[in-house]
Amino acid sequence: MGRSHCSFPLRFSRSLFISDSIVRRYSAGASPATPAGPPSHAWEQLNASLAGHLISTKPIGSMCHNNTDFAECSELRSRWTSPATHYEDSSSPLAAYWSNFSCSPFQHAGDDCMIGPLAQYTTNVTSAADVQKGMITSEDRLLLSLSRYGCTTSNSPSIDRNTPTSTWYTGPALRIGAGVQGHEAQEAAHNSEPGHFIMYGHSPDISIAGGYTQGGGHGPLASKYGLAADQVLEWKVVTTAGEILTASPEQNSDLYWALSGGGGGTYGVVLSMTVRMYPEEQTASASLVFPFDAADSRAWDVIRSFISGTLLLIHAGGTALWVLYPGPTVEDPVTLIARPLTLPGITKDVLQAYLA
Ligand SMILES: Cc1cc2nc3c(=O)[nH]c(=O)nc-3n(C[C@H](O)[C@H](O)[C@H](O)COP(=O)(O)OP(=O)(O)OC[C@H]3O[C@@H](n4cnc5c(N)ncnc54)[C@H](O)[C@@H]3O)c2cc1C
Repeated sequence: MGRSHCSFPLRFSRSLFISDSIVRRYSAGASPATPAGPPSHAWEQLNASLAGHLISTKPIGSMCHNNTDFAECSELRSRWTSPATHYEDSSSPLAAYWSNFSCSPFQHAGDDCMIGPLAQYTTNVTSAADVQKGMITSEDRLLLSLSRYGCTTSNSPSIDRNTPTSTWYTGPALRIGAGVQGHEAQEAAHNSEPGHFIMYGHSPDISIAGGYTQGGGHGPLASKYGLAADQVLEWKVVTTAGEILTASPEQNSDLYWALSGGGGGTYGVVLSMTVRMYPEEQTASASLVFPFDAADSRAWDVIRSFISGTLLLIHAGGTALWVLYPGPTVEDPVTLIARPLTLPGITKDVLQAYLA
């Protein structure tokens, strides 16, 4: 593999924090929430330090504001809730709900496109030096966050099989750059000889070294292999002081433990992480959809036995992601959606026997 030219966006805004030191500076002076925000010379200074590479945000929903081409806008609306719609736009959250309807394509066409809590500026980071420049120049005035996606050029994810410099782990490992999406990392593990897998979440979209792993990260294999943060052997990080450090249980261990579940964007900019890989094994997965009348007590018995059954599944090394959706009114059916129910190391027949 050895592909290494990935870029990922750094986002600058008035409402997202990367470090305590930045929060403290704001607490002492102007609030990021004040309408004035950072003075424009701060943006100019940042832009100059990034050789003019600061990109002003134009939300993708802006095409639906002051635009008479309704066909173009309704096409965007039809795919708005799909994470893939937001891959290429570094200001746009993958879960559109969290954009707080800022510049939403569902607003009235005559409404202004408001950037709101979205990042106001972005820069594409291609090296640790770019991160250092953004971090140091922005620290005084601007708030900085990292975007989940950046490997937009073909064949460029920064993923490679790695031998960590560790005395306590000698097994197979994968180094995953910031901005690499889960499905890209999983494919790289699968293509390593012999095939391996990594512990990952339920969605293939999110960038694995970002908020997902730094926030703990659960997934279909978590009962057997642990959380995403448990997989990390070392982090490569630019600290808020602009230093590039390797954090592992043996070097800079405080930073290692802080990053391993302490929350994305809190301790520095992660450039890459190295995680454990496991030999591939057969895994079975199922989904269950059960609409029922909320007034029917027998249906609630079924739900009760489903929930107690999931405990058996979890003790056997499996996981169950499930939710009960109420209907729009009390007369409408309630729906149990269990998707997926996963049990590693077994066949479909064994999983069916568990669920029977
Ligand atoms: C479609 C979808 C499916 C999901 N499925 C799961 C799931 O199965 N399991 C699960 O546990 N969670 C899941 N989540 C939740 C997800 O883990 C969190 O939303 C997570 O914060 C996403 O991280 P991100 O880096 O992709 O997002 P962002 O919103 O870009 O970042 C989140 C935070 O991390 C920071 N950050 C990002 N990159 C870096 C970096 N390189 N260095 C330092 N800080 C960084 C950002 O500044 C921000 O504060 C899902 C989310 C979505 C949208």
